[in-house]
Amino acid sequence: MINQIQEIFTQHFGNHASLYASPGRVNLIGEHTDYNLGFVLPGAIDKAIYLAIRPSESKLSRLYSVDYGESLTWDLSTGTLPEKMWARYIYGVVQEMQKRGARLQSFDAVFGGDVPLGAGLSSSAALESVFGFALNDLFKAGFSREELAKIGQMTEHNYIGVRCGIMDQFASLFGEKGKVIRLDCRSLDYEMEPFEAPGCRIVLIDSMVKHSLASSEYNVRRMQCETGVATVARHVSGVESLRDITADMLETYRAEMDATVYRRCRYVIDENQRLLDGCDALKAGDYETFGQKMFGSHEGLSKAYEVSCPELDLIVETARRIPGVVGARMMGGGFGGCVISLVRKEAYEPLLTEVQERFRSKFGETPRTIDVTIGDGARRL
Ligand code: ADP
Ligand code: MG
Repeated sequence: MINQIQEIFTQHFGNHASLYASPGRVNLIGEHTDYNLGFVLPGAIDKAIYLAIRPSESKLSRLYSVDYGESLTWDLSTGTLPEKMWARYIYGVVQEMQKRGARLQSFDAVFGGDVPLGAGLSSSAALESVFGFALNDLFKAGFSREELAKIGQMTEHNYIGVRCGIMDQFASLFGEKGKVIRLDCRSLDYEMEPFEAPGCRIVLIDSMVKHSLASSEYNVRRMQCETGVATVARHVSGVESLRDITADMLETYRAEMDATVYRRCRYVIDENQRLLDGCDALKAGDYETFGQKMFGSHEGLSKAYEVSCPELDLIVETARRIPGVVGARMMGGGFGGCVISLVRKEAYEPLLTEVQERFRSKFGETPRTIDVTIGDGARRL
């Protein structure tokens, strides 16, 4: 892939390009916990956006997107948002870096990658991170990886209109092969946890359902969580988020809550605990227990948090019945997107065959599958 990008750079702009990569990500467990200031457990994957880039003496920067077959020339010193969506991410990163005092020169760049777009693997964070990382390195802007993650996040907020958390950019920048990142969304402290899973594969099965309900229901869930927090906060000082509420505290004030609010809050509290218990299991090399936490996460998302859909449920229910499937759960905000599964190698074919058959007979479509491994974060090649 990188050779192809480099070759295209040479054809367009000549020699002496520097090469960079930054990956997409998966999240193994910890869903809808980020905005409740809990924990998430993402890992970078072996699919990335690759970039060939060289500083330019010209006033204009030149960009070429291999995957769209489109190019753009642009004056970094002007503030007009590009028309093309892919260019807005790069434009946003440049603006956010300049806003924080970076002095960037013009550049010529060719980029492309193999992170599937819009599948929940965060191709957009990979794109922001590879440009942030490369420009930081080339022009000695001096930002830390954490600052680069914020630059990517603010690009989504300010130039794309997606009010995302920081997990995706964080994973793309901090990822390491054979490790996942336990990120505390309250403090932004993080710890690398081992994730070798010997004899296992990670496979994503795409429900092919578009998240049409996701943003409206997302807002409803946020409000329900806030309502639960407010109820407990009336009795207990210092309670500001679900992170500050234990299962026992929630049970104590359960009678004062609407049943739905209770179930939403309980899910979030339990999900944080599942994640922490799952990390203990990873440290002990106990992937069976970790997998059970993944199944538990799905159960909670489907029944208590109610953000799944029949397609996702069918995939997970099918996976659960196949010996050698260690764990499976919907990944992302819900109402569509992918199921992430951890499977023993010998169960991989049976899983795909069974899921595809059942899915086809019920929904008339064959779900796409995407194989991933846990790989390294942003880097110069
Ligand atoms: P995802 O869940 O993959 O992050 P998004 O909708 O947030 O989905 O981001 C996808 C967008 O990011 C694309 O529409 C495109 O503008 C940009 N993008 C992602 N990958 C590439 C790529 N390889 N080349 C150009 N643009 C890309
Ligand atoms: Mg995205």
